[in-house]
Amino acid sequence: MKDLNHQLAGLGTTIFTVMSALAVEHGAINLGQGFPDTDGPADVLKAASDALMDGRNQYPPMTGVPELRQAVAAANRRFYGLEVDANSEVVVTSGATEAITASLMALVNPGDEVVLIEPLYDTYVPVVRLLGAVPKLVRLTPPNWDLPRAELAAAFGPKTKAIMLNTPMNPTGKVFSAEELGFIAGLLHKHDAYAVCDEVYEHLVFDGLQHIPLMTLPGMRARCLRIGSAGKTFALTGWKIGYITADKRLAGVATKAHQNLTFTSAPNLQRAVAVGLGKDDAYFAGLADELERKRDLMAAGLARLGFGVLPTHGSYFISADFRPLGFNGDDVAFCRHITEAAKVTAIPVTAFYDGAGAPGHFARFAFCKRDEVLIEALARLERLFGGRDAGATPPPLTQAARTA
Ligand code: PMP
Ligand code: GLN
Repeated sequence: MKDLNHQLAGLGTTIFTVMSALAVEHGAINLGQGFPDTDGPADVLKAASDALMDGRNQYPPMTGVPELRQAVAAANRRFYGLEVDANSEVVVTSGATEAITASLMALVNPGDEVVLIEPLYDTYVPVVRLLGAVPKLVRLTPPNWDLPRAELAAAFGPKTKAIMLNTPMNPTGKVFSAEELGFIAGLLHKHDAYAVCDEVYEHLVFDGLQHIPLMTLPGMRARCLRIGSAGKTFALTGWKIGYITADKRLAGVATKAHQNLTFTSAPNLQRAVAVGLGKDDAYFAGLADELERKRDLMAAGLARLGFGVLPTHGSYFISADFRPLGFNGDDVAFCRHITEAAKVTAIPVTAFYDGAGAPGHFARFAFCKRDEVLIEALARLERLFGGRDAGATPPPLTQAARTA
């Protein structure tokens, strides 16, 4: 039979699915795939269940129910001072995942170049390639993940159509500074390029830092598609409600992409997310404070066990160097080993790189879990590594882990 799509046929199953399946298989605490283990706010849940019963269960408008588009516009004004037209500049999608694909579809033609910053979320590169565009990768380096400005500038050229920018960043927890964003804005201006801004962790920022949308910088309003996710903002990752905010010209073409991907998403969930976005400032501040406390708990616990813990200033994630524990394998082997032997699952950080030569000695732990779960996970790791040499020999890699 004829070949199937080469890009997709050659792609492994996402690491998040692979590691969650492994966690289930071994009855492990899953600190891999990033999802909270408590439900989102009760009023948002109730709004969703009420909305299900009041007879509005047919196709909502393509760009989203009016209540949610207005709530997205209002949140842009409240948090960032952005004036947004709810009718023409907001597109509600099935999660940020669809928003990323729709935004890239809206921007690129085959042969265009897209600048991407490694480590990166695992849908970016496959989607860029599926569209026939060319990824130009620039790599950040631990422990500080500083932006290598000269390399970034060198990645831009006459064929550059866009940059994918993720801040706060998964898996590094980096929050891009005003200076770094200013540098990126300068490159976009110089090369007449656009930005797809993955800001799903916009409200999960710690240490007194501030999330700054690139879109708020001078000259950037018409060059950015800014993406948010109700999954992250309301701890409801299964709902898959995302939203794009963009200038009318960009939003219009992103809507055409959305029209051909999913067209729309569940109306009751959209209406409930509108309620969520209207919550008071204390909710959003409390969300970040709570996660910051969990970050501290996890950072201190991993450091006590001997991990080389990297700083993380936002998101659900913390990464740690496991070499000080005396483990002699790579990150895939390590994550598999702790799943099997300690019954704690993490994600190998090399999964966030496309190219060769990625640092192979970091595991990413999700700390968006109940305190007692984090404490139990740390206790299990301590039992495994307490003696330093215990478990130092990695097991053989499985095919599933290899192709992840
Ligand atoms: N971007 C990043 C950086 C993420 O970590 C995630 C993970 N949830 C997504 C996008 C996808 O978000 P959603 O679940 O809303 O599709
Ligand atoms: N964003 C989540 C993470 O980084 C995973 C999302 C997914 O499983 N697709 O863990």
